[in-house]
Amino acid sequence: MTSRASENLSDLVRDGRLPEATAELEEVAQQFRIRMTAAMRDAADPGVDAQFVPTPAELTIRPEELHDPIGDDAYSPVHGLTHRYPDRVILHSTQTCEVYCRFCFRRETVGEDGTLTEAELDAILSYLADHPQIHEVILTGGDPLVLSPRRLGRLMTRLRALPHLEVIRFHTRVPVVAPHRITPELLEALRGSTTYMVVHTNHPAELTEEARGALARLADAGVPLLSQSVLLRGINDDADTLTALFRGLIRNRVKPYYLHHCDLARGTSHFRTTIAEGQTLMAALRGQLSGIAIPTYVLDIPGGYGKVPLTADYAQSLGAGRWRITDWQGNVHDYHDPDHQPLDTNSEHGQNKSGT
Ligand code: SF4
Repeated sequence: MTSRASENLSDLVRDGRLPEATAELEEVAQQFRIRMTAAMRDAADPGVDAQFVPTPAELTIRPEELHDPIGDDAYSPVHGLTHRYPDRVILHSTQTCEVYCRFCFRRETVGEDGTLTEAELDAILSYLADHPQIHEVILTGGDPLVLSPRRLGRLMTRLRALPHLEVIRFHTRVPVVAPHRITPELLEALRGSTTYMVVHTNHPAELTEEARGALARLADAGVPLLSQSVLLRGINDDADTLTALFRGLIRNRVKPYYLHHCDLARGTSHFRTTIAEGQTLMAALRGQLSGIAIPTYVLDIPGGYGKVPLTADYAQSLGAGRWRITDWQGNVHDYHDPDHQPLDTNSEHGQNKSGT
């Protein structure tokens, strides 16, 4: 078995993740990139495989699905930057990732040769210098931890030089999907800044021994660790799997932060639950998990209107899968669930979800 990542259909067949590369899968591969690391293959769990191995279901593009589901482009004052909220920005340092998740909300752009040039970085730094109300920079992409420690260190030094920037936050999947990248050199590049790391992980089987080691190295270096997960039909949409995931994170010094409702990215409806199903799950978790292990269930309102907790205050059911959602500024938006069957609350599975 190779330690190289599987980067196309032939690799996935070679590495035992697909029986064959069918014509339908070739069509999927032409539209959306493929990458699964050896670390994730070694996790050897169907709930992990399903996040990285393409299926023909990705060819089903529903009318409500979007190229840019969370509206990054509409709030981009300079290339590589999204400024949606007054006090914080997203800096898209690269478009590359160690893995390409089949449900990714940026699946139309990840994998492009999008590492920022020096000139683009200069323009971003100049925008940040001109906006002293910005206190936090979120480094994402792609995955910022695919940058070399040297390159990352240079970027951190330039960000640290801006006196109004108080926090640098990383959104990354690397500690879990490519734990070997958490090296002493990388930890050294992070030193000297108030740095938070939000680790993307969706299934307890992702927390392999190597991943737990990487999380320990980060925690021992004093980096506060949070998590974000995506609620995924057939992968983690049951209370037992989510409980195991969040307990595993807390054990490894990672505070569960966000559970995202799956965004309206093209070709991802097979992963999407309904909001009602997500709320039922959250109610079930409250019954069996300590408060510090419970994340906030959130929706990024399609179109770029920001993130909102999916509590009764923000989400009002209009019936038949239609919802009225209120954004952070009090504006009201419509949202439509996919046409999935509702949960069977009489099954053993459903009873599991109903306790609070
Ligand atoms: S690691 Fe994040 S940005 Fe990259 S493909 Fe997965 S979800 Fe998308």
